Amino acid sequence: MSSNKQGINTICTHSGAIEDATFKGSVSPLYMSTSFDFMDVETKRYPRYFNTPNQEYLSKKIAALEHAEAALIFGSGMAAISSTLLTFLKSGDHAVIQNDIYGGTRNFIESHFSNYGIEYSFTKDLSAQSFEDCIQPNTTLIYIETPSNPLLKLVDIFAIAKLAKSRQIITAADNTFATPIVQNPLDLGIDIVMHSATKYFGGHSDISAGAVASSQEIMDKIWDLAKDFGGNLSDYTVWLLERSMKTLGIRVKAQQRNAKRLAKYLQKHNAVKSVFYPGLKSNPYHSLAKIQMKGFGAMLSFELKDNYDSNTFLKALKLIKPSMSLAGVESTMLLPSKASHSLLSENDRLSQGITDQLIRFSVGIESKKDLIDDIDQAITLSNV
Ligand SMILES: *Cc1c(COP(=O)(O)O)cnc(C)c1O
Repeated sequence: MSSNKQGINTICTHSGAIEDATFKGSVSPLYMSTSFDFMDVETKRYPRYFNTPNQEYLSKKIAALEHAEAALIFGSGMAAISSTLLTFLKSGDHAVIQNDIYGGTRNFIESHFSNYGIEYSFTKDLSAQSFEDCIQPNTTLIYIETPSNPLLKLVDIFAIAKLAKSRQIITAADNTFATPIVQNPLDLGIDIVMHSATKYFGGHSDISAGAVASSQEIMDKIWDLAKDFGGNLSDYTVWLLERSMKTLGIRVKAQQRNAKRLAKYLQKHNAVKSVFYPGLKSNPYHSLAKIQMKGFGAMLSFELKDNYDSNTFLKALKLIKPSMSLAGVESTMLLPSKASHSLLSENDRLSQGITDQLIRFSVGIESKKDLIDDIDQAITLSNV
């Protein structure tokens, strides 16, 4: 029952459901079996082969959402990302990597690529020119992540795809922050899209998972390595993820509606120095966002003015939780300087625009007024 012609909320709700032929229940049955018949069957099923019934069917929902031919579900976003990168990068190959990427991905590249003999360059900035400047004769892969964390900068997806195609370079995009509700990189010419399903796909801060979607040909190659790395997700969690994804569309739309209102509110606030959100008309990426995204997402960040203490502000919040992770239905905030970017030197951090006053805001589905009230009372208490 998966069709790209269906509306996005219908795909979220119904695509890739397993029919309960025995009892006619209305939700997908959960098949926990790790042992399946091998005689006279077309598919040899085994969890680590990513092809148990629940894995196979939920993959169809993810593929439909990303306008892909096929998808695989992993035990974490990093399992999805590392399996994908190592499928297409061999000893002697070179990768061009966007500068602002998720810390875990950056750490994977910097800590382990040299062990595999893989070369890499991080771009100077997010312009297509700076990607082009990094290309070498042995470049086989370009990696992007847009919007970026935590400053919500955008990469011109179409320009990167075009650049890569002209040189026969494969492209991979981390679409975690946008979600397929807001952005479909494959439609813009990117080859592979990856997700930390721990974030919006799960959406309730209680599932660790990852996903990759692409053409069948590319997914077959990734599968070949992934089944040996063994990063599959247990079927019970696959089943929970299906349940979460039924509301992906309505959650993300509600969250981004809140994010836009809060970005506007913060922009006018006299305690706030700057707001980073592509949905604001004043944002340098606003026009690009309107071209390549179907909305502006639900992540934003903002800087408090110097006479407010960011630590005190975070501690004073009552409704909004300080949290490492993001994308749940509950609003959370984080200080990148103390969390995601704490391992960088102060100089490196500041050169990336990550000051101690910067706060990343993952906007949830709460009532807007309650979020504003919470921010206001915390701002008042943090005035120094
Ligand atoms: C969280 C995250 C990841 C890693 O996902 P895990 O599920 O934690 O392994 C990758 N990319 C982005 C953008 C993320 O936010």
